[in-house]
Amino acid sequence: MGGGPTGVEIAGQIAELAHHVLPREFNDIDPTSARVELFDGGDQILAGFGDQLSGKGAKELERQGVRIRTRSIVTGLDRNGVEVKGPDGETYRVSAQTKVWAAGVQASPLARMLADASGAECDRAGRIAVLPDCTLPGHPEVFAIGDMMSLDDLPGVAEVAMQQGIHAAQTIKRRLRGQAESKAFRYRDLGSMATISRFRAVVSFKGIRVAGFVGWLMWLFVHLAFLTGFKNRFVTVLQWGITFIGGARTERTLTLQQAVARVAIEEAGGQPFLLKVTGAEDDQHLHG
Ligand SMILES: Cc1cc2nc3c(=O)[nH]c(=O)nc-3n(C[C@H](O)[C@H](O)[C@H](O)COP(=O)(O)OP(=O)(O)OC[C@H]3O[C@@H](n4cnc5c(N)ncnc54)[C@H](O)[C@@H]3O)c2cc1C
Repeated sequence: MGGGPTGVEIAGQIAELAHHVLPREFNDIDPTSARVELFDGGDQILAGFGDQLSGKGAKELERQGVRIRTRSIVTGLDRNGVEVKGPDGETYRVSAQTKVWAAGVQASPLARMLADASGAECDRAGRIAVLPDCTLPGHPEVFAIGDMMSLDDLPGVAEVAMQQGIHAAQTIKRRLRGQAESKAFRYRDLGSMATISRFRAVVSFKGIRVAGFVGWLMWLFVHLAFLTGFKNRFVTVLQWGITFIGGARTERTLTLQQAVARVAIEEAGGQPFLLKVTGAEDDQHLHG
């Protein structure tokens, strides 16, 4: 649910796992029969990337086997599926054992507490409206930054949070030097990117729009550049190289939640593969 960068990346990854990675690893189930559906309330996915990249992203996702349903708002959800209001206003149901919410987050409850205490406004996502210098109205000593604040329609991304952190620190340092004047926060937009699949990404940077393999190389470069230390970068390049070229995913994690999900699948009439694989009646066998 949610056709922004997060939803698109997750849908692409799940489709890739289902269609390219897992089929080689199971005898009793057919991972390629998994349906991956992406719902978005707007007219297109990746709306913030512009029409051209949005179209290319959608095409690539569909090539990966993801079904995209735009102008479709998820209005309800239970353990066996979701309820969707489609473009014609009619509500229909889609069966789904696994649901992933990628349609936005609520701010920390601390934002509402601060708003109540200071008289500032809060928006629908629970974000507190701050002054241009990121402080609370009437409280220059209190800064609210990152996902918990709203200012000039800035997006809820890490870059905003990091730049605001620097802005707040610089303001405090200036005050300690006796310079009381306050400067408005200016966001330096470093662009947006989203990976659609292995070797495919979309990049939007200062009016430049790139999709496909070149976009993916740019995505790779930026993510490596932001890692700290040579060792981290070296190990990451090695691991990514093995994963991207070999196509295998060596990491496997079995958690209690997965165990519960498998029991749910079994109850819903799916294959009791959990008991078959482990030969165990007990969740404990799945730990470790
Ligand atoms: C699934 C997902 C994918 C994302 N992908 C990207 C991406 O690719 N690129 C990107 O730029 N952004 C991405 N984002 C957004 C990005 O993670 C956030 O914008 C960023 O983390 C905001 O930083 P922050 O410091 O404001 O909040 P957070 O990173 O959420 O940090 C807030 C911290 O404060 C703590 N906290 C909360 N309340 C209290 C309290 N009362 N007392 C003490 N501590 C408290 C929380 O536990 C948390 O550790 C993604 C977000 C999600 C959910």
